[in-house]
Amino acid sequence: MRAGRPAEILRGRGAAFAALAVMAALAGFLSWRSEWAPAAGAVLGAALLLRVVRERGTSGAERPARREAPGGGGGDILAACPDPVVTVDGRGIVTGANEAARALIPALRQGEPLALALRAPEVLEALRATARTGEACDVEYGARTPGDPFLAVRLRPLEGRSAAVALFFVDRTRERRVEAMRVDFIATVSHELRTPLASLVGFIDTLEGPARNDPAARGRFLGIMRDQANRMARLVDDLLQLSRVELNEHVVPTEPVDLSALAAQMGEVMTPLAHERGATIRLDVEDGLPPARGDRDQILRVVENLVQNALKYGGAGEVAIRTRLSEDGRWVRLSVADRGPGIAPEHLPRLTERFYRVSEAESRARGGTGLGLAIVKHIVGRHRGRLSIESALGKGTTVLVQLPVFTGQGRPPGA
Ligand code: ADP
Repeated sequence: MRAGRPAEILRGRGAAFAALAVMAALAGFLSWRSEWAPAAGAVLGAALLLRVVRERGTSGAERPARREAPGGGGGDILAACPDPVVTVDGRGIVTGANEAARALIPALRQGEPLALALRAPEVLEALRATARTGEACDVEYGARTPGDPFLAVRLRPLEGRSAAVALFFVDRTRERRVEAMRVDFIATVSHELRTPLASLVGFIDTLEGPARNDPAARGRFLGIMRDQANRMARLVDDLLQLSRVELNEHVVPTEPVDLSALAAQMGEVMTPLAHERGATIRLDVEDGLPPARGDRDQILRVVENLVQNALKYGGAGEVAIRTRLSEDGRWVRLSVADRGPGIAPEHLPRLTERFYRVSEAESRARGGTGLGLAIVKHIVGRHRGRLSIESALGKGTTVLVQLPVFTGQGRPPGA
């Protein structure tokens, strides 16, 4: 509801007075000429008055619509809408657009055809159809090159204005990316599982056929089959572990964990493996270290993965497990360092991605799944901790994990 402006009200009243005056004059004139004249004058005057009132009513309703037309009949709503919205008339000329729409389509100009600014044939085709039929329609477009957004567009006819259409844009880039990652992940997991599976099936065929009566070959093949089955089991275990950690990533663990004791325990557990590989484990733990705030089993898994990697890829040298308190006393630090061949700098940012390996063959040969550091990253993330990997070719690799000191309260430092 909108009150009329003074000039408009005066204009309306003036017209009503004029109608009354005409009615009175006519009545006077006709009453002088005949006896039925008063009735005719009254009818004529009433008709004139009715017309004035009707006109005033219509123009009052129309005026705001005309003022709001550039914004599509709701300029304030259009401006407040966080998603891009564009309105066009029946000829596809832009009649309104909000800030978000102008940011999305910089070439958009009011009064110009939408087709000049929006190079999306599927949207323009849908726009023509909606303008023609008056039926709502949804289309998707975008992401022609990797940096492009992917958008869903909802086209809705604007009531009361012939063939005018509102276009609502919704950014679906994130959903698309997640979907692409999911598809990619399933493809990678299938590939990772299919390789050992194919090998198992191949050996079963051989054992049933040519090697049926060859006890030496049977023993050798069964050993390989066991390795392949173990590899599949490791992969499934790691996948389950990763999905469990991801599922609980928003739940911050709250128990006190003694990192020095945990490092010593892991050093002991890993010593036989180190000896197998001709390596040694050196413990350098700080006494009296305050506990970290965390989940003991998960931190154990972190240290296990890091020490295993140092032994797998670090050659026959020394692996050092170290614990310290940060200078500001807010973080407990645990590092695992090897003196192996190191990692080239271009690989460092991608090491924590699922299935990323510097050398696929080497990882496979050493029983790797490509998921170890991804699990480490997610566990550290769940603890609201920090993870960094430093490496130099020919010098070795150091992985540093920092966890918040346990304070008895749930809040992590700096959170
Ligand atoms: P994987 O199961 O293959 O070991 P990870 O996620 O644990 O998977 O590690 C990813 C890759 O990072 C490994 O394949 C390896 O190429 C590299 N890497 C990890 N730790 C080290 C290390 N200490 N020294 C050299 N390369 C390493």
